[in-house]
Amino acid sequence: MSRYPLLSAPLDLGFTTLRNRSVMGSMHTGLEDRSEDFKDLAAYYAARARGQVGLIITGGFAPNIEGWLSPFGSRLATRAAARKHRILTAAVHDEGGKVALQVLHAGRYGYSPLCVAPSRLKSPISPFTPRALSEAGIERQIRAFTRCAELAREAGYDGVEVMGSEGYFLNQFLASRTNHRTDRWGGSYDNRMRLPVEVVRRIREATGPDFIVVYRISVLDLVEGGSTWDEVALLARAIEAAGATMLNTGIGWHEARIPTIATSVPRAAFSWLGARLKQEVGIPVCVSNRINDPAVAESVLAAGEGDLVSMARPFLADPDFMAKALAGRPERINTCIACNQACLDHIFGGQKASCLVNPAACREESFTPRKADVARHVAVVGAGPAGLACAVTLAERGHDVTLFESASVIGGQLRMAARIPGKEEYAQTLRYYGERLEETGVRLMLGRTVTSEDLLAGTFDSIVLATGVVPRSPGIPGEDDPRVLSYVDVLEHNRPVGRSVAIVGSGGIGVDVAVFLAEPHPAPSLDAAAWRRQWGVTDPSEARGGLGTVYAEVPSRHDITMLQRRPGRPGAGLGKTTAWIHRATLKKRGVKHEANVRYERIDPAGLIVRAADGTGPERTIAADTIIMCAGQEPRRSLLAPLEAAGRKVHLIGGAAKAGELDAKRAIEEGTRLGLAL
Ligand code: NAP
Ligand code: SF4
Repeated sequence: MSRYPLLSAPLDLGFTTLRNRSVMGSMHTGLEDRSEDFKDLAAYYAARARGQVGLIITGGFAPNIEGWLSPFGSRLATRAAARKHRILTAAVHDEGGKVALQVLHAGRYGYSPLCVAPSRLKSPISPFTPRALSEAGIERQIRAFTRCAELAREAGYDGVEVMGSEGYFLNQFLASRTNHRTDRWGGSYDNRMRLPVEVVRRIREATGPDFIVVYRISVLDLVEGGSTWDEVALLARAIEAAGATMLNTGIGWHEARIPTIATSVPRAAFSWLGARLKQEVGIPVCVSNRINDPAVAESVLAAGEGDLVSMARPFLADPDFMAKALAGRPERINTCIACNQACLDHIFGGQKASCLVNPAACREESFTPRKADVARHVAVVGAGPAGLACAVTLAERGHDVTLFESASVIGGQLRMAARIPGKEEYAQTLRYYGERLEETGVRLMLGRTVTSEDLLAGTFDSIVLATGVVPRSPGIPGEDDPRVLSYVDVLEHNRPVGRSVAIVGSGGIGVDVAVFLAEPHPAPSLDAAAWRRQWGVTDPSEARGGLGTVYAEVPSRHDITMLQRRPGRPGAGLGKTTAWIHRATLKKRGVKHEANVRYERIDPAGLIVRAADGTGPERTIAADTIIMCAGQEPRRSLLAPLEAAGRKVHLIGGAAKAGELDAKRAIEEGTRLGLAL
């Protein structure tokens, strides 16, 4: 009997059967934009199909150039283009999987001067003002949607998903905030929902009864002027009547100022809306958002909140997520930590997506491990993310690996990250590596501070230094004061912190420390009701779009001032999709921030600063505790003696370069070296 009986159960759709209840949700990877990348895209899908995903939904393809996400981006509008998709559909079918193409018309979200919308209203997330469509223009869009679905069928897809949520084109017609029309496509809700319903009806008519048509419906808009629950329910029933095979749920418009998928969002935070939707329709309902674990997926299904579970990023993180779940080995899953760093942040930065915990994602072919020609004895020093990734990759290839770690547990900086409220998921990566070390047979030497003599005396053919970083001392006069702590003292050694706190440095770690001190423990990320109160998320039957009142702030336990020498906001180097969430959290908790400062000294009154250009009077930032978060320096004292002895040493992670080190770079460097040695 499966450990996850509901998740592993097939779903009979009448004309076809999905092998289980998992859906790989649509996610743009950047490989969709040029057919030259389809070989890599095919390998990416094939790996997920081989890993037993029930239904794969592709990244979004525009039905015409007016629907482009960005100029010359992914589009399916011609027979010639459809032929190029055959490599994708064949790759999935060869592995026994099923795949649907997502038809995504960006509307006013298009980063393109050709974008169109119900009304001439610019969105806050695109610099382009859309052209308002005429009635004939609307008919052209419907024909484009229909043609795109027909072409998808010709290309061998098992179905399409019509993107009707997240604030894209069809969603823009539904909401009065973006639809100011007075013709039969605007005004009353019946008129506003005419377009999505017509699109589904015409697609069904054109593609026949035995083709999967998923409609992604926005169940919670999280914007002013969004839909009420009655409107969502009315639309759902109409979409079912128009011939959709199933409904997938979408949460939040892209312009919403409430996080919907970041790691600080509680797991399955929105699945309750799936239960609501199921009361309205007879077709299967798929739930989504922050479901990254088979046990959570199973409990969502068991609670009657959905018939299927959509996970997008979790399949980037581990193509074998379902295979491992079905085999009863969930502990082996490389869990998506919802950091967005290598997926969404890459896409928003114009790069191809990959994954922080799985750098092979979207470049499977170049990351395939090959058995080592000669098994070598390799010493890896340091069990932080770089050392862990390197050690398990080497061992998987057949090398004999000894991993030395001076602490009594693995993890390095990642261990500290996992202690930050809202970053609890990071502990999953440590659990995963713990499993992988065992599985691959790495000899793990914990609590062992290895010396260069030890390494030289050993029989190691290769030595990898992944010894990480040490906190930088900024050299402020008086910094040897007992009130001065480093972030390691606070996050790792639980050193007591006074009521008033000055944080020197407002980079990623400064923000983490501020969140650690300001947020309640346990964090709202572990308590869905508290999280909803914190962000003002409510029932869409009570308030349009589910936008409720943000509850009175819970003040921070500490009076915190963050500082930095340069101009700018705290966490300026953090990813676009998450930095705003951290800043909003700190603001809610009353954390102060000062940029453009010069640190003069630390004296009994606190931290003395003045303006960065040295002008103006000295000011005192009163502080019981001053926490140094001023970056790091590489820790590599082992390097010189080993090199002096004529040994070639491989440096990775922070030991190689401390500046802008993060887990993404560390894991990728470790994995690449592990593949190359
Ligand atoms: P960081 O982001 O580079 O920030 C270092 C901070 O220290 C800056 O605010 C810098 O600001 C200040 N600083 C540098 N030299 C200083 C000096 N000599 N005296 C005083 N202040 C000094 O580095 P980090 O905070 O240590 O983080 C390390 C890396 O991990 C970064 O790449 C970061 O993005 C990443 N990280 C990411 C996350 C995440 O959630 N994604 C979380 C934590 C860390 P001024 O020079 O303006 O004073
Ligand atoms: Fe998940 Fe982070 Fe990987 Fe994206 S980069 S798939 S959020 S672990």
